[in-house]
Amino acid sequence: MGFIIRIKSGITNLYLIKGEDGYLLIDAGYKFKILEKWLKTLNIGWDEIKFILITHHHLDHVLALNSVREHTNATLVFHRKELSALKTGSSPRKLIPLNFRVCLLMLLSSFSKTKPVNIDEKDFIVNKDTDVLRDFGIPGKILHTPGHTQGSISLLLDDGSAFVGDVAMNYFRLLGLKKRPLVAENYEAVFKSWEKLLSAGVKRIFPSHGEPFSASELEIALQLFSKKEA
Ligand SMILES: [Zn+2]
Repeated sequence: MGFIIRIKSGITNLYLIKGEDGYLLIDAGYKFKILEKWLKTLNIGWDEIKFILITHHHLDHVLALNSVREHTNATLVFHRKELSALKTGSSPRKLIPLNFRVCLLMLLSSFSKTKPVNIDEKDFIVNKDTDVLRDFGIPGKILHTPGHTQGSISLLLDDGSAFVGDVAMNYFRLLGLKKRPLVAENYEAVFKSWEKLLSAGVKRIFPSHGEPFSASELEIALQLFSKKEA
């Protein structure tokens, strides 16, 4: 089983997962210099990064991507429903803020903006849940976990570790998120994706924002919000 390195790049967590044939990087973040520094410290060469999994197209996950691509020969992995947003740098759908407090924050920030990303012919476009990374020494599967954006994906490793992008957050506590994303295209779909992750056997959740947390915490949050709806 590969090991996991968490890289804090501003407000975004990036993760490096060591596979048999090299590293998989989860998201590129928005601060290229920070990633560059981390790799130097870890003594990992750019050429050792074989795959970059893009959980979704938002700026805090992809702004540094073009610079990262200039340094690696890595294959991008992303969902088909993110393709046009990645290519054009414009988000096709509106984001719904979780609550009034988030609404205010959104007015002050630009985190939902995007920027065009260079896509290569060899890049891997995910259409459905897939085991494809297993062939490259990454023991896990890619799950389509929509809600934050339509094409959000997660990587679930065989040991139960899940890298979920922004479909769950463990951050901005004052805003009352309780594991929910700050903004989403569709919150119903977010909760469905939580159910999907739980029934797929997730044990530990590695979000892009905030500390990792256990699946039981996600389960409690899910119960809370499904009760609310009932
Ligand atoms: Zn994010």
